[in-house]
Amino acid sequence: MKCPFCGEEMTEGYVESGRYFMWKGKDERGKKQEYLLAKSYMGGAKLMGKICPFCRKLVLDIPESQF
Ligand SMILES: [Zn+2]
Repeated sequence: MKCPFCGEEMTEGYVESGRYFMWKGKDERGKKQEYLLAKSYMGGAKLMGKICPFCRKLVLDIPESQF
């Protein structure tokens, strides 16, 4: 996949956290928004994605079952 920001080729991999991967933000009306993106009871929760080392961006795949 080409990076949508700079057009260079991105490389695949994953980011790993503790048991849970949470998204925390606010929606367009300012309401608190929290999504559990991934969870794992054994080892770290992982999100597959692609990284661009040129402009330092990550694009992550969210498993459909999580929300
Ligand atoms: Zn880039």
